[in-house]
Amino acid sequence: MSYFSDLGLAPNTLKSIQEMGFESPSEIQQKAIPILLGENTDFIGLAQTGTGKTAAFGLPLIDSIQGNAAYTQALVLAPTRELGQQIAEQLQAFSKYTKGVDVLAVYGGANIQGQIKALKRTKHIIIATPGRLIDLVKRRAIDLSKITTLVLDEADEMLNMGFKDELNEILSFVPEEKVTWLFSATMSNDIRKIVKNYMHTPKEVRIGKKDEVNKNIKHEYVFIKASDKQEALRRFIDLDPDMRGIIFCRTKMDTQNLSSDLRKLGYGIDAIHGDLTQNQRDKVMGLFKTHTINLLAATDVAARGIDVKDITHVIHYALPDDQEYYTHRSGRTARAGQEGISLTLASRRDLAKIKALENSLKIEFEKIQVPMPENIQQSRIMNWAAGLTSAKTEAGVPVELLDHVEALFASFSKEQLIHKLVSLEMDKLGSKGGNRDLNEKDGKRNSRKERSQSGSRNDQKADKSFEKPEGRMVRFMMNIGKKEHVNKANLLRFICDESGLSKRQIGTIEVQGKRSYFEVISSEAKGLPAKFDGIDINGRMLKVVRG
Ligand code: AMP
Repeated sequence: MSYFSDLGLAPNTLKSIQEMGFESPSEIQQKAIPILLGENTDFIGLAQTGTGKTAAFGLPLIDSIQGNAAYTQALVLAPTRELGQQIAEQLQAFSKYTKGVDVLAVYGGANIQGQIKALKRTKHIIIATPGRLIDLVKRRAIDLSKITTLVLDEADEMLNMGFKDELNEILSFVPEEKVTWLFSATMSNDIRKIVKNYMHTPKEVRIGKKDEVNKNIKHEYVFIKASDKQEALRRFIDLDPDMRGIIFCRTKMDTQNLSSDLRKLGYGIDAIHGDLTQNQRDKVMGLFKTHTINLLAATDVAARGIDVKDITHVIHYALPDDQEYYTHRSGRTARAGQEGISLTLASRRDLAKIKALENSLKIEFEKIQVPMPENIQQSRIMNWAAGLTSAKTEAGVPVELLDHVEALFASFSKEQLIHKLVSLEMDKLGSKGGNRDLNEKDGKRNSRKERSQSGSRNDQKADKSFEKPEGRMVRFMMNIGKKEHVNKANLLRFICDESGLSKRQIGTIEVQGKRSYFEVISSEAKGLPAKFDGIDINGRMLKVVRG
């Protein structure tokens, strides 16, 4: 076992991390801290979230600050306000016993005047999102001319979120003589460019293999119809009363729809997506952190930086298109050495994606079954019964009252009483939803149809003439085409998944350069465009109109 005290940190810093309950340094901390403390060098740390990166740069950063010098000495750039706030909280905790170190996080989406006011007092370390930082520098609220350390945290994510120009602008106006510490989960070409253009012979530390997924995560999937996803999800939530989960959806609209549907049924869930104001986001995160709600429906971007230790489940309501996002998503569970489950609600088109994830991330998915309502009831009743037997019963019950109740029960046997109690509890649980088996069969039997839906190479050329619909058709236009890598097969799947229509209800599909046309059986045409509302394709709103 290694110790923080061997890394060369100042006694006051050691005292604060001891108080925080950090016992021994994580791998990135062991490797990075001695370099960052002892050498005045540029640095690259390749590590995914949840590995203790913040302390790896935060502890040496605190030790490098001269509290008695009244100017900004370090800038930490982070992709999201959530991450920025978390870094600030950790740095404040690390510097609890270090005199005079003032830390502030500034980020977009919050009132800038309040931040300008807070900046009037010297902040030794500023944590910022790129856009807001540039704004504040232009307004002369922040002076970076004397900074000695620049930290780029989750640099890959900053680029993914489109902050490339902002990053270049910031890197061009910070002083030459500073050191740059760059942390990233992956080493993309754009990151390499930043390293080449702005860093000098950096020392590099790499934790685990590229894109390695946390070993404590169990990857599971169920195979169901796309239209059964919500019911399947509800059954998993019902089965496990201790579930604390983030449910990943593809669009803002999906997060809102899912959370409002489930809320109506009494589940403690809220949505978190990019359109929330800072206040709304803080409110939702507050509800989640205090266990007032135990479920969050989130988009990928909005879930960035969520660092809640006790998340038991990450649920992929829709799998991401980008494999890296799967690693990021599942990394929200199994934090700080705990275990977690990453569960995919897979419809047929996701099976190929699961295979691809297994191959490229070197992980194994276990296929599990969606529980039947009777399994759920059984498990809940057993939990209830176990809870009853272990419940503390210190509160004194008046002897007289006990006598009365005993008299009432006198004519019942123990078996009859247990029967009554259990059946009352079963009534309380009720049966939400139907009694169907939602699990789809893994079939090779129905081969032609299966192949055409499986997402395999063959289905690119899939001929759907054998299932041509009959009746009057209505034609629609969609504002994506070959330019967005649309082909007939993937468009057909997409239309079915989003609209809930079956292939049989869709007619001719024509894909052009920038748009596509498809026919839908006339009885299903009404209200169809609205089913595609709120879908974002590469930053552009998808539009479906009669065409
Ligand atoms: P990070 O990767 O910096 O986001 O850290 C993930 C979580 O692990 C945070 O909640 C940290 O507070 C916690 N953490 C970081 N380093 C340690 C450590 N050495 N011991 C225990 N917990 C840690």
